[in-house]
Amino acid sequence: KAKASDTGNYMVFDQSMREQVQFRLQIESDMRLAIERNEFQLYYQPIVSLESGKIDGVEALLRWEHPLHGMTGPDIFIPIAEETGLINSIGKWGLDQACQQFAKWKKTQGIHAPSILHVNVSRKQLLDPGLTDFVLQTIRKHDLSPDCLHLEVTESLMMQDQVYIIEILRKLRKAGIKIDMDDFGTGYSSLSCLHEFPLDALKIDRSLIMNVKHVHDYAALLQSVLALADNLGLKVVAEGIEDTEQLIILQTLGCEYGQGYLFSRPRPADEIETLFYSEASWIQTPDALPVNST
Ligand code: C2E
Ligand code: MG
Ligand code: MG
Ligand code: MG
Repeated sequence: KAKASDTGNYMVFDQSMREQVQFRLQIESDMRLAIERNEFQLYYQPIVSLESGKIDGVEALLRWEHPLHGMTGPDIFIPIAEETGLINSIGKWGLDQACQQFAKWKKTQGIHAPSILHVNVSRKQLLDPGLTDFVLQTIRKHDLSPDCLHLEVTESLMMQDQVYIIEILRKLRKAGIKIDMDDFGTGYSSLSCLHEFPLDALKIDRSLIMNVKHVHDYAALLQSVLALADNLGLKVVAEGIEDTEQLIILQTLGCEYGQGYLFSRPRPADEIETLFYSEASWIQTPDALPVNST
């Protein structure tokens, strides 16, 4: 009897394994066609000055309108794209598309256009020997100044090939492009990577912001991260601000920039445009803030 049940379990396990493998293979082969089929799309999320409420920049975030599964987020397909190497062509498509949109905003939105474009790049992309040239060509093609482009990298970059990766980052920075450390505070080596990486900005991970109002120590932790960034001359963006309470704490701590659902979810270009005119609507004047002054 026990044996039968074992076999039964095994078969269930086997079946779901097979389904998983099939799903993955399907996604992989769909992804190979997705660029020519125009299934990728960029969403944009604003990065806001916490002092003025003005939109400082936008981050481009990939979406895939899968013919069967619908709108698919990067957490599902980016890892597969990285393993298969498809991230290189998808990433190039995304960078070109984002620069084109950003240049268009500069023309059509004038002073209301965001001044900085953030694009994520993964480890595999940085290891592509043609990346630096492609980035510089793309910037030139769309007539953009290199310092309006921030490339976002994560500390997992440093796991291997450190010397080479640092060389690439230096080369990009020498050409005027800015490098941001994304998801700061999630890894083990966060502090040491600040010294190893040539950087311009830090993006503090959502997990730190999320806990700031519940766990007292997190405010202290954030305060020291902000002091450290200040010492190193790094710009700071707090990720994942979802409510006014978090916003007020960050403002009080003197964090300069923020991003999160409180301001806007990532949205298609034509929808995000309408926000460029709603300057300062998120940030209330200090005396209007609902702070407990006692
Ligand atoms: P990321 O670069 O750290 O982007 C921030 C993620 O947090 C986005 O998820 C965004 O939608 C989400 N987010 C923003 N504000 C909030 C908030 O207030 N609350 C919550 N719960 N989430 C918030 P998304 O768009 O699913 O992207 C996930 C990750 O995929 C990105 O993390 C980035 O690492 C990667 N990714 C996205 N686009 C690209 C791309 O074009 N190239 C590469 N290489 N990676 C990309
Ligand atoms: Mg990012
Ligand atoms: Mg992040
Ligand atoms: Mg992330």
